Amino acid sequence: MKVGFIGLGQMGSGMAANLIRGGHEVTVYNRTPGKMRPLVEKGAHSAGRAADACRGEAVITMLADDTAVESVVFGEEGVIKNLGKGAIHVSMSTIGIALSEKLAGAHEEAGRRFVAAPVFGRPEAAAAGNLFIVAAGAPDAVGACMPLFDALGQKTFTFGGNPRDANLIKLSGNFLIASVIEALGEAMALVGKAGNDQHRFLDLLTSTLFTAPVYKTYGGLIAGRQFEPAGFAAPLGHKDIRLALAAAESLMVPMPLASLLHDRFLSLLAGGGEKLDWSAIAQLAARDAGLTGD
Ligand code: NAP
Repeated sequence: MKVGFIGLGQMGSGMAANLIRGGHEVTVYNRTPGKMRPLVEKGAHSAGRAADACRGEAVITMLADDTAVESVVFGEEGVIKNLGKGAIHVSMSTIGIALSEKLAGAHEEAGRRFVAAPVFGRPEAAAAGNLFIVAAGAPDAVGACMPLFDALGQKTFTFGGNPRDANLIKLSGNFLIASVIEALGEAMALVGKAGNDQHRFLDLLTSTLFTAPVYKTYGGLIAGRQFEPAGFAAPLGHKDIRLALAAAESLMVPMPLASLLHDRFLSLLAGGGEKLDWSAIAQLAARDAGLTGD
């Protein structure tokens, strides 16, 4: 397919490379232009403006947050104004459900198609084409995107015709991952404070009752205190919990654990942790237990 790709951050660079590898004709755009060079070397066209990445059958956005998506989508230079009639905007960023609803309405009004397709998987999975994709939107539009999803992920899960549902599923999943990180941090602090080997504890967990990838990935980062370089930066984790709480507020769903996690992220960021991986909230439990001097 002829496709544009906007947002070449930790996730987007690997994803765009996989589209090229999959035989698609890709035009990339990034706010910081230097990040386009490696993709151009792999065969992509580069766009001088976001608008110039919107000339194909579809354009994918993989941007940091709601503000970034709004700034690229709306306005004279934006995605909606510059996408061809009937072309599809695939929003793969983790954004709030209110913005997703606004985007769906604005695209429909302009005669453009909109699919929300956020992803599970860290930058390594993005680079390897191993993402899990959660897609929602009009069935014909989601169907038309399948060749793109096949190049980007190992499996695509569809969640009906309302794009915001895909965003809600993604936010709920990230709330669960953050809960696991917090719980692992507390358990590791307890085990470690008593003088036990945290790696052995993790080995026990992940080879018995807790075999899921989320325990292996985050347990390893926590036991090894590997919070830099960030694969998923703490400000983005904070953003996701904030968006999960906003969704919970709009749907009148109390989520006391999400409120606790929100405070954990605030503590991490207030203490200068914005360059750390989001799993560094686990370090707060260790610090509270007097286990780390830093
Ligand atoms: P990232 O490395 O911080 O990249 C963010 C991208 O957004 C960059 O291309 C950045 O451009 C662009 N951007 C930020 N603010 C902008 C603005 N105001 N206008 C235009 N462009 C702007 O983030 P990431 O880790 O790739 O994450 C991207 C999305 O995927 C986020 O929604 C995140 O929640 C989600 N996600 C991440 C992971 C993960 O493990 N990292 C996993 C699943 C989902 P510059 O290069 O110019 O800064």
